[in-house]
Amino acid sequence: MKQNIESFLDLVRERNGHEPEFLQAVEEVAETVIPYIVKHDIYYGKNILLRMVEPERLISFRVSWVDDSGEIQVNRGYRVQMNSAIGPYKGGLRFHPTVNASILKFLAFEQVFKNSLTTLPMGGGKGGSDFDPKGKSDNEIMRFCHAFMSELFRYIGPNTDVPAGDIGVGTREIGFLFGMYKKLKNEFTGVLTGKGLTWGGSLIRPEATGYGNVYFAQKMLETKNDTIKGKSVVISGSGNVAQYAAEKVLQLGGKVLTLSDSSGYIFDEDGIDADKLAFVMDLKNVKRGRISEYLESYPNAKFIKGKTPWGEKCDVALPCATQNELQEEDANTLLSNGCICVSEGANMPSTKEAIAAFHKAKILFAPGKASNAGGVATSGLEMTQNSLRFKWSREEVDNKLKDIMSDIHKSCSEYGTDDDGYVDYVKGANIAGFVKVADAMLAQGI
Ligand code: GLU
Repeated sequence: MKQNIESFLDLVRERNGHEPEFLQAVEEVAETVIPYIVKHDIYYGKNILLRMVEPERLISFRVSWVDDSGEIQVNRGYRVQMNSAIGPYKGGLRFHPTVNASILKFLAFEQVFKNSLTTLPMGGGKGGSDFDPKGKSDNEIMRFCHAFMSELFRYIGPNTDVPAGDIGVGTREIGFLFGMYKKLKNEFTGVLTGKGLTWGGSLIRPEATGYGNVYFAQKMLETKNDTIKGKSVVISGSGNVAQYAAEKVLQLGGKVLTLSDSSGYIFDEDGIDADKLAFVMDLKNVKRGRISEYLESYPNAKFIKGKTPWGEKCDVALPCATQNELQEEDANTLLSNGCICVSEGANMPSTKEAIAAFHKAKILFAPGKASNAGGVATSGLEMTQNSLRFKWSREEVDNKLKDIMSDIHKSCSEYGTDDDGYVDYVKGANIAGFVKVADAMLAQGI
């Protein structure tokens, strides 16, 4: 078995040696899925995983735009169309200076498994740019989005590839992107998700990733006859995912202690309640400020510069910022402080070593491809509403989201329960996600 995994990984490393994040994501999947392939004749000997690690298409393009001082700026745009076996490519766009082919290939690869887990017919893709939205004016954001879409539009469509938001891309950016697509194609369709409510967006879509993550954590806790109620919760990030994860934790009776951004984290011993969270939402979404400004209104809190919040004592940790933000020593600190549940809101926030530490301690640990799938699942529900030219109520969408998170939890338990009864949600998510895509690929031929 070890031999099968190693020879597969050697080949993938040879082809993608310069792409560390992508290799990290592939290694994690290979270690759990290859043993399953070897045991099942229908998958064995068909190089099915080798086909899955190769994007169906990788598009890279120039984005030139004019900044407010009249200077011409040039960025790089991408779309990775990873796998369309079970539906049109689906996945977000990330605008962040760290964006490169490795990051987008890892995200697109994860998206294939995540989308498969949602039970909805969506393939996997991801895209974005190394453009940094930080400090840019609304007009600069608009000009950049228009320039980006004036190239991307050739490759996407409501039945081909349906992008959405990710880090640096929210409703404002989706609006500018949608406006340009509509101008170029002269059609009003569900080509993007995460749209505003008056122009085809779905209720609950902004909340969905954060809410879904907490629904998943709640499902994991239920297996131990426990709940979020009364739990201390440490959250990283302060963007869309973190904000709505915090909101749901509060609604379910938990206490939120921290939020963060790239400059550090705030710790509020009294708890970040609904009023304080409303302040953070306004600070981040409207004023586009830094999380440290929280202290100007709530001076009892502390700001810890340049650090992640994993040193704080908590029952539940929700990493909702970015990849590899939680490392082995953070995992060990969380464990020694009594943390019993980690549910990832971001994509691959825990390193492989951190995950190994959680597994060794046999605590509840959910990988992002399962626990943050509520976002893309609700994007799928937005696509359905667009196709029907219809709109579901808040309650209808929220109930569907809850059902989907519960189904994902069930699939992970089905494929991930070890002989001693411990649920390895990483193994469960990888195998459950793989089976559906692999079956479709096999049915469709080479
Ligand atoms: N960017 C989100 C994710 O990582 C959402 C993607 C989508 O809605 O298409 O799943």
